[in-house]
Amino acid sequence: MAMKQLKFNSKTIHGGQQPDKAYGAVMTPIYQTSTFAQTTPGGHQGFAYSRSANPTRTALENALASIENGVYGLAYASGLAAIDGVIKLFAPGDEVVCTGDIYGGSYRLFKRVFEKYGIIFHFVDMQSPEGLRQYINANTKMFWVETPTNPMMNIVDIKAVAKIAKEHKVLLAVDNTFATPYLQQPLDLGADIVMHSATKYLGGHSDVVAGAVVVKDKALADQLYFIQNASGAVCGPMDSFLVLRGIKTLHVRMQRHCENGKAIANYLAQHPKIDKVYWPGFENHPNHKVAKEQMKGFGGMISFIPKGNEMKDAIQIIEKLKLFTLAESLGGVESLVGHPASMSHAGIPKEEREKSGVLDTLIRLSVGIEDQEDLIADLQQALK
Ligand SMILES: *Cc1c(COP(=O)(O)O)cnc(C)c1O
Repeated sequence: MAMKQLKFNSKTIHGGQQPDKAYGAVMTPIYQTSTFAQTTPGGHQGFAYSRSANPTRTALENALASIENGVYGLAYASGLAAIDGVIKLFAPGDEVVCTGDIYGGSYRLFKRVFEKYGIIFHFVDMQSPEGLRQYINANTKMFWVETPTNPMMNIVDIKAVAKIAKEHKVLLAVDNTFATPYLQQPLDLGADIVMHSATKYLGGHSDVVAGAVVVKDKALADQLYFIQNASGAVCGPMDSFLVLRGIKTLHVRMQRHCENGKAIANYLAQHPKIDKVYWPGFENHPNHKVAKEQMKGFGGMISFIPKGNEMKDAIQIIEKLKLFTLAESLGGVESLVGHPASMSHAGIPKEEREKSGVLDTLIRLSVGIEDQEDLIADLQQALK
């Protein structure tokens, strides 16, 4: 059966995968080698040097392409290395229009690294896609979209942005880290590039840092591959193996993340000590309709603001939590709590940050796959 015909859950396990050619190993071996023997100069089996290609990485890249309904996958040393590899498509004077409340590390890479090389970035509220148009000019090369956004859980209508991108012959890239292809498949909605921090849900076990890009177009894939090989921030064999293994349970993990996320969002929403809860599954979320249309579920990422105006009001709760571990990152099997203003978004100036709602009191949860009763009991004691 052609792999293309498989449904999503089967693709996470089999997509792009075959038993290993050497001994029939069912799980792709970790080809922990930098180089490959040649019989005559250029006489190799497609692998010459592991920066250019490595069989474990190739297996991961095929799996990535499969689960995102793309054709070509590229695996990088980190999510930011993947983004770096995309932005290097451009030259001084080129412009990129980005979702306003983007991941802090992406913002830092755009503003503090790539602006030095003359690439211009605009940060725009994309919740009403028509607002994009005023930023488009002859130099506009790409829209960079994050949805749901981190940490405000805003939703951008990918189809609507894709339509504007096509009209102006601008590339559309979507950072699909939060949603994962289980919930949302941007290439099917008209995006040209889908990107992941595989460190998060794809890896899923908080044991690896990796990044991914998937595209459909051959010419675009060739350019990205050229940059990946020329710049060199590739995903190593061991890391490729870990992400590949993580992907095999993506669908079951995501199902539970969604169930637990819903239970906790509802618990927080009715709690008298909570001021606001941000989660796209609520019917009164400003873009709930779009979320419902483009996503299969609403995930386990939730942000909330407890009552009180000072940072300490949030810190107290964070410090009391026991089952939710205070740590950077998200998307692992274990539940984590974060304080965006001082952690993931500390690199964004306070004024910029607060414009998009990242107040000093905002708390972000990455709801894991533990028993929801235990997670709720932990929140209950921390909010007492
Ligand atoms: C973590 C993250 C990144 C960066 O990925 P790294 O693997 O940490 O380099 C990019 N985008 C989003 C949405 C993220 O959460």
